[in-house]
Amino acid sequence: MDEKALEFYDVIICGAGPAGLKAAFELVSDSESPSKRILLLDRRFPWKEPVSCAEAVAKEAFAELWPVRDKWVRQVISGVYFVSPSGDKVEFYQKDCGLILNRALFHREMAEECEKSGVVCRFDADVKRLYRDSEAFWNAEVAIGGETQVFRSKAFIDATGPGAKLTKDIPELAGLESGDTDLEPAVFTLAEGIEYSPEHIELYFGKKHFPGGYGWVFPRENGVANVGVVVGRDYIKTHAPRKMLENFLKEFFPKAAFGKFYGGMIACGQSLKPIAMQGIFKAGDSASCVNPMSRSGIVEALKSGRVAAKAVSAWLAAEPGQERRRIEKSAFDHWMRVQGKSHRQIAQAKKAFYEIQDAQFDKAAKKLCKVPREKQSLFRIFFTVLVSMPRLIWKMRSLIW
Ligand SMILES: Cc1cc2nc3c(=O)[nH]c(=O)nc-3n(C[C@H](O)[C@H](O)[C@H](O)COP(=O)(O)OP(=O)(O)OC[C@H]3O[C@@H](n4cnc5c(N)ncnc54)[C@H](O)[C@@H]3O)c2cc1C
Repeated sequence: MDEKALEFYDVIICGAGPAGLKAAFELVSDSESPSKRILLLDRRFPWKEPVSCAEAVAKEAFAELWPVRDKWVRQVISGVYFVSPSGDKVEFYQKDCGLILNRALFHREMAEECEKSGVVCRFDADVKRLYRDSEAFWNAEVAIGGETQVFRSKAFIDATGPGAKLTKDIPELAGLESGDTDLEPAVFTLAEGIEYSPEHIELYFGKKHFPGGYGWVFPRENGVANVGVVVGRDYIKTHAPRKMLENFLKEFFPKAAFGKFYGGMIACGQSLKPIAMQGIFKAGDSASCVNPMSRSGIVEALKSGRVAAKAVSAWLAAEPGQERRRIEKSAFDHWMRVQGKSHRQIAQAKKAFYEIQDAQFDKAAKKLCKVPREKQSLFRIFFTVLVSMPRLIWKMRSLIW
């Protein structure tokens, strides 16, 4: 590849997860303002295994953002088992409501589509630093192919995932969203020897193993399940996530054979900080756009990548100055309309949800177990859990209206 051709771009995107890949693809396929020079950088190939994720998505929402292909769908999901602290399972059934992806293959397809459409992709590029030596450009200092190189762009999309270190501590970006809102640890392993339904995901609740979070069993292929836990931020010090996963496996699946543990942080709260400033746009986890309760972030990252791409397209077409500042501000408003407002409501209800006592979950589960599956609804489950705690219904009203 000609190194000279890499030097200057209209847009540099750092991070080739779903947010960065989607932003790149949207930008390059924007028929209203074509022929942008776009560089997509990541320090690792986005299809490198393992992808630190349980890989579940809501099918309909996902399909609106990228066409679903059998070759990277591990399982089609038609329901959820909610498992109470004492082990009672409540089924919620909805045909074909979800998917378990093979994210590595999905990322590969997205990256190939980006490259085919003209995005320059470098997946051996560790972006070390962002800085400016002129109002008109951002410089990205990148360790690439054994040397350090600087790439310049007018606009820069930070899609580097939770924590977003790249855009921290830059004086011009003070106050920008930092991708660490309500940061929670999640850890998982791939296990065999577990009895599971290939068309259900299982979600486990209870303060003993999953304080402030939940446990999961998500089906993969060939008798393998992705088993993990996410722990609430307030419990990180007292409930080490790896230990929690060990205990979960020991108590619920004593015969399971499992391998290494993998993990990561999830930024699962919606802040009110701006997501664009001075030509820097944030997307995905780096913009704290994960659903605060379900901790799902794949569909959200795709949506957020699209929001960032739209804003960047308009920003490039605008004159420098006031108009660009307005577009940066409107990126946040756009995100709030697309998803952020509902995430904020969910975040408010989350604290109250975790006040529910294990005994209350158990009591509700015993009752709900008897409801035939065709009569079961999420609404019924929600209210049966909360019915003897009107105080919480009030606190969680933001989920309802
Ligand atoms: C254990 C776990 C389980 C999860 N399960 C689910 C689930 O079942 N369903 C769901 O919807 N969500 C799940 N999530 C959340 C989901 O994985 C994230 O929300 C999603 O990956 C966010 O996408 P993203 O593109 O913003 O960031 P990421 O997918 O994190 O991508 C960021 C990319 O940036 C690159 N990068 C970072 N810094 C640099 C740098 N300086 N230079 C170059 N490259 C850089 C990284 O290599 C990475 O490829 C889970 C998360 C965890 C941790």
